Amino acid sequence: MEKIHNLPRLFDFEAMAQKTGNGNGFTGQDILSVSQFDRERLSYIFTRSHEMRELVERVGACDLLKGYVLACLFYEPSTRTSASFIAAMERLGGSVIPITQGVQFSSVSKGESLPDTIRTLEQYADVIVLRHPEVGSAKLAADYASVPVINAGDGAGEHPTQALLDLFTIQVELGRIDGLKIAMVGDLRYGRTVHSLTRLLMRYEDISLRFVSPDTLRLPMALMNELLDQGIKVRETHDVADVIENADVLYVTRIQKERFSDPKQYEEVRDCYEITPDLMTRAKEKMVVMHPLPRVGEIHYHVDDDPRAAYFRQVKNGMYVRMALLAAVLGRA
Ligand code: ASP
Repeated sequence: MEKIHNLPRLFDFEAMAQKTGNGNGFTGQDILSVSQFDRERLSYIFTRSHEMRELVERVGACDLLKGYVLACLFYEPSTRTSASFIAAMERLGGSVIPITQGVQFSSVSKGESLPDTIRTLEQYADVIVLRHPEVGSAKLAADYASVPVINAGDGAGEHPTQALLDLFTIQVELGRIDGLKIAMVGDLRYGRTVHSLTRLLMRYEDISLRFVSPDTLRLPMALMNELLDQGIKVRETHDVADVIENADVLYVTRIQKERFSDPKQYEEVRDCYEITPDLMTRAKEKMVVMHPLPRVGEIHYHVDDDPRAAYFRQVKNGMYVRMALLAAVLGRA
């Protein structure tokens, strides 16, 4: 279903959509899963993201989304995703209803259901960004909303906008995605960013994936089977030392403490990996270390000065990609 709301605007949505080739099909659309992105759409978003970077570097902000309102609804903690969506909207001249300081201060704490909260926010906003602890919550919200819903993380499910910014970062840092060897380290079971990024990488040619995790946190079997069905080169190991020498990208993740039902199980794996300067001496000269952040000990602070440490550049790319996405779903790409 295409969602083009009918609030009065300074321009005609449909005329704009036709003029821009319908923002490559994004206008009015929900962004729920990376499965919505083929290579053409990825390349469209990345081109727009480069333009957003230029815009921010040259003039800081513009009024492309002036008059538009974004509702940011977060049922789980967030620093980067919420702040970057807010910054993205504001740099494009739009404004934000931020429900990001904990839904305990909203009517959710009075027992309001997700559909009712969504149907309320769409009365004020032109687009809704949602983070929620349950897998499938973004889809549920989208079923009720008449404005686009963007999934900012649904439990251990997906985090599509993080995967887009991860992929954009790989392209910016290494100049290509095809042919790369990518090692993912840490909590591959519950890490939604790993799930989304892995699915996006399947779109590229000659990708090799290395998965490094404790036994209890291996990549979900269904996802592993998808990779194998597609003939992607895959290897699993417990040890970062097995993969660091050949990796073009080392994608490190936090053990997702909040997803463990048994705290003892978390304690067993909490400190299983740490990328140190010593380990980095074994890595290629041209590789990148990435992390969706927050880190809680998986990357030693002394690695930060290594030019290959890309995680804070990755953070900034998140704003450009989210600017591109907001403009696209609002038909202003
Ligand atoms: N910030 C990322 C997420 O929301 C990664 C993490 O929390 O570890 O999924």
